Amino acid sequence: MSVLVFLEISEGSIKKSSIEALVYGHSLQLGDVHAMVAGNPSNLDEAAKFGAVKIHSISDSRFQNMDSVAYSEALSGLATQIGASVIVLAKSAFTDSLTARTSFIWDAAAATNVVSLPDSEFNIKRSIFTGKAFETVALSSERKIISVRKNAVAVTESPASGEVVSFQPSVSSKAFAIKTISTEKTSGEVLLSDAEIVVSGGRGLKGPENWGLISDMAKVLGAATGCSKPVSDLHWRPHHEHVGQTGIKVSPNLYFAIGISGAIQHVAGISSSKVIVAINKDADAPIFKVANYGIVGDAFEIVPKLTQALREAL
Ligand SMILES: Cc1cc2nc3c(=O)[nH]c(=O)nc-3n(C[C@H](O)[C@H](O)[C@H](O)COP(=O)(O)OP(=O)(O)OC[C@H]3O[C@@H](n4cnc5c(N)ncnc54)[C@H](O)[C@@H]3O)c2cc1C
Repeated sequence: MSVLVFLEISEGSIKKSSIEALVYGHSLQLGDVHAMVAGNPSNLDEAAKFGAVKIHSISDSRFQNMDSVAYSEALSGLATQIGASVIVLAKSAFTDSLTARTSFIWDAAAATNVVSLPDSEFNIKRSIFTGKAFETVALSSERKIISVRKNAVAVTESPASGEVVSFQPSVSSKAFAIKTISTEKTSGEVLLSDAEIVVSGGRGLKGPENWGLISDMAKVLGAATGCSKPVSDLHWRPHHEHVGQTGIKVSPNLYFAIGISGAIQHVAGISSSKVIVAINKDADAPIFKVANYGIVGDAFEIVPKLTQALREAL
């Protein structure tokens, strides 16, 4: 028996959430942990540090194109080849499609958004309704796929041999039918959905002219900036920064909600953050119910002082 973990690459390195998936795969204790990766990530050695006995590296340049048809064929083919009983992935926009396709062609039961290890019967807890509830599902098939929610796993090292072997998947003629022609993204800023720290502002900031408060603090922390829905509806900030149920779901280690009331639709997008810090002048604002740390006070007084203190400390 073995476990196969898919390592997703972003900006040339293995994503932190994929390292969490690796730790999860190792914690299953279902035999050797293998990893599959395409490309040559700068932090490939991390895979060995976190438990991969063998890393199957795809050098076929066509895999730079993130086509889930090709990846699902590669992943299921490798899982069969090494006799894996479980495939583990980190939940992301790409792996949502990869999980569905692989589950179909590998004939496996899949659970997505998983937040804990299974019990001995393979009952497994997952987050549902954008983090507002949990459900436990039973995976009763022989082959299983687990897509782990970001920040659900505490990362601990388990050094393994991490032998890198070349893997040339055989893919069907249907693979690579979708090609990315171009990608446009905001440059010089941290990508909101992948950010480890997010500084978000709400209507409490009063207007776009005050956004320097948010961006200055974000710059000091190397953070992405976000906002509540009304802020983007009012065109104070672009729509791609809108966080929440109808916007971007974020899972950073640290989320600052500044002048944000904490409406349920906003909280739905931040509930998988590890630590939430709220700054709000209303002590009864609902955001304090979900915040780990809170400062009651005027953002216009607090944020510049906090930014200055961070600048000196970092
Ligand atoms: C179908 C639907 C979907 C929605 N989806 C989303 C979504 O995805 N994301 C989202 O964000 N919202 C969403 N909303 C809107 C949501 O219900 C709230 O209206 C919105 O989140 C409120 O934004 P806010 O907290 O910035 O503004 P407000 O509710 O106006 O809150 C402003 C906060 O700032 C505080 N404040 C004011 N001045 C200061 C100051 N000087 N210093 C510190 N604090 C101050 C106030 O005490 C208050 O708590 C959705 C609504 C609906 C109906």
